[in-house]
Amino acid sequence: MDLKKRKKVIAIVAHDNRKADMVEWVGYNWKELAPHQLVCTGTTGRLVEEELLRRCELNDDMPPEIIRLKSGPLGGDQQLGAMISEQKIDMLIFFWDPMQPQPHDVDVKALLRISALYNIPTATNRSTADFIISSPLFHKNYQPILKDYSGYIQREV
Ligand code: PGA
Repeated sequence: MDLKKRKKVIAIVAHDNRKADMVEWVGYNWKELAPHQLVCTGTTGRLVEEELLRRCELNDDMPPEIIRLKSGPLGGDQQLGAMISEQKIDMLIFFWDPMQPQPHDVDVKALLRISALYNIPTATNRSTADFIISSPLFHKNYQPILKDYSGYIQREV
């Protein structure tokens, strides 16, 4: 699948206690999100798809394209991390739950680490997601500046 055929590739992930919030956010922002390629962890993707299809049908609009990875605890966060490291993801909207330990806490940490490493815009709460989606940069071809790690790659070991 050609991930770049739509404008941006937006990853969306929500922990269970934040899914209702995430669906509300997606519903509110459906018009902004619909033209883009969305990549979601499994259960988040099902809910995002239902909400966006509903909105698009109501408004006779083109349905969104959504790639559903595995469920987060079953490897979905790691799949997403791999896609970020391959620079296939433009931004990450991550409604994570700060009040509950997750079975895949290490994967969550890895996902946040790799999004920082590849300098992609990353919302870890709803207000940051609002700022990202309303930024003028959201509509531009923004290329994150990557730190040069060639010295690290070629280091003497
Ligand atoms: P889920 O995974 O969308 O499959 O529930 C989210 C997560 O990473 O916990």
